[in-house]
Amino acid sequence: MKKHKIAILGAGPAGLSAALQLKRQGQQPLLLEGKRPGGLLLNANLVENYPGFPDGISGPDLVEKFLNQVDRWGVEITHRKVRSLDFKENHFTIQTEQDMFQSEMVIVATGTEPKVFRDVPIPEEAAELVFSEVFPIQHVKGKAILIIGAGDAALDYALNLADENQVMILNRSRKRKGLELLWERVQKVTSIRYYDRHVVRSIQYTDSHSMEIGAVAEGEEQTFNCDFLIPAIGRTPALDFLSPSLKDEVESLSGLGRIFFIGDVKNREFRQTAIAVGDGLKAAMKIDQIREGG
Ligand SMILES: Cc1cc2nc3c(=O)[nH]c(=O)nc-3n(C[C@H](O)[C@H](O)[C@H](O)COP(=O)(O)OP(=O)(O)OC[C@H]3O[C@@H](n4cnc5c(N)ncnc54)[C@H](O)[C@@H]3O)c2cc1C
Repeated sequence: MKKHKIAILGAGPAGLSAALQLKRQGQQPLLLEGKRPGGLLLNANLVENYPGFPDGISGPDLVEKFLNQVDRWGVEITHRKVRSLDFKENHFTIQTEQDMFQSEMVIVATGTEPKVFRDVPIPEEAAELVFSEVFPIQHVKGKAILIIGAGDAALDYALNLADENQVMILNRSRKRKGLELLWERVQKVTSIRYYDRHVVRSIQYTDSHSMEIGAVAEGEEQTFNCDFLIPAIGRTPALDFLSPSLKDEVESLSGLGRIFFIGDVKNREFRQTAIAVGDGLKAAMKIDQIREGG
């Protein structure tokens, strides 16, 4: 089993920022990433609230800059999905699909995972047409894409895809949760159609490798045809790998500076890149203080 002083779980903005600062402090953290470095930020259409980019910057472009920067500092990203995290005999054990690591301190930066759309069953054949993020289909053209939800992510996904595709947004309620600024932009794009008070009642796979979405709006049934479906109905902290015994000890271990939770995984309604990056920096600096006996 490989032993490390500090392990960081997740290489989104929070984990990358922690890794960068730890490197600057002369430490060699183990950075584990289960999917794609850059995390959720890869989905962002236009980031306008991250200082340093007066005209805004796309999520993928900002991720590229982050990755260039950590690369320059020699941060290595180990591609592993963490299956379980446990604490016994005064050290953490990190079990991945392939191997096991030990560490003295852990920074959990695993962000969030999408809430699963369970209102109606999704046919097995259609599963590959359903996405919880926009990143995998960002480059498709001429498709009909239906988004369920009307929060920031749903509106941002619509704006992201609407240049080259026809986008429909279905909101089950009359209210929208998304930023007014995004809603104003959505209204100006002719390739986006917005339907409120539409409740999805069925999803069917069709022979033409697409889907028919049945919805009800105030008693009236309607059918929408789409090539891709994106339920954007919220996200929850990605923490299912914490062992039950570790969950009981999280508070005391946090107090001792042995485990840190940073970024979206703990930020609830404050899930923003600059906050995640700040969390990463702060955790790394706290680790330095602790190691110096502060
Ligand atoms: C559509 C959209 C638009 C956005 N626009 C903006 C914006 O304009 N401005 C802004 O500030 N923010 C924006 N955000 C939010 C921003 O993307 C997040 O706040 C930020 O990415 C959080 O960083 P994080 O590192 O905490 O988590 P994440 O980015 O979610 O990164 C977590 C990482 O951990 C990895 N991981 C998870 N579980 C495991 C595991 N078990 N093992 C190993 N690795 C694991 C994931 O694969 C991921 O790479 C937007 C988000 C979305 C979806």
